[in-house]
Amino acid sequence: MQGFILNYNKARDEDLIVTILCKNKIYTTYRFYGVRHATINIGKKIDFELETNYKSTIDRLKDVVDIGFSWFDDNSRVYCWQNFIKIFYVHLYDIEHIDKFYCMLLDECVKKLTRQNPKRAIIETYVKMLHYEGRMSFEDDCLLCDQKISGDIALVRGFKQTHEACSYKKAINRYAMQELLENKSTAKLSDNECERIWQVLLQGL
Ligand SMILES: [Zn+2]
Repeated sequence: MQGFILNYNKARDEDLIVTILCKNKIYTTYRFYGVRHATINIGKKIDFELETNYKSTIDRLKDVVDIGFSWFDDNSRVYCWQNFIKIFYVHLYDIEHIDKFYCMLLDECVKKLTRQNPKRAIIETYVKMLHYEGRMSFEDDCLLCDQKISGDIALVRGFKQTHEACSYKKAINRYAMQELLENKSTAKLSDNECERIWQVLLQGL
């Protein structure tokens, strides 16, 4: 099986509880400590086997092989990717059976990260997820005051749109924002605007 490591926690000794997103399911697995194991790290894609043990409710993770990404030696990309996976994990917390969309979305994002600015790639990925979950629209009205937004738009968590004066967030060019929210493209956003949107994304999905 193949999947993305969303999270891990230390268990007894050096053993780990590892959460893995696969095509149709999120697995919670147990990995016994061993020096010859591939290292477990958030955001890595791995090939693995599961061993069911009648004595335990949790399957054992074994034969882990790392499926490397070409950019995994680029710290800035890995940093952004892992931050995204951490909040992605929180977003999918407690879900077991899952639509293949999420795995495909991460596969697509991995590809984007080979060539695109990492924050732009992840922002576009997130907007795609919002569309899929039916949570995205380009609104005329401010989330906070319900009045029409005629000028530039300030984003809050979940990429909801507000007036700058209502949310105390610096506004972003309206047309660039429309291009992002409707067409999932950051092309019209400046680097500064992307940075501000990135900070909103880090607040949670
Ligand atoms: Zn408002």
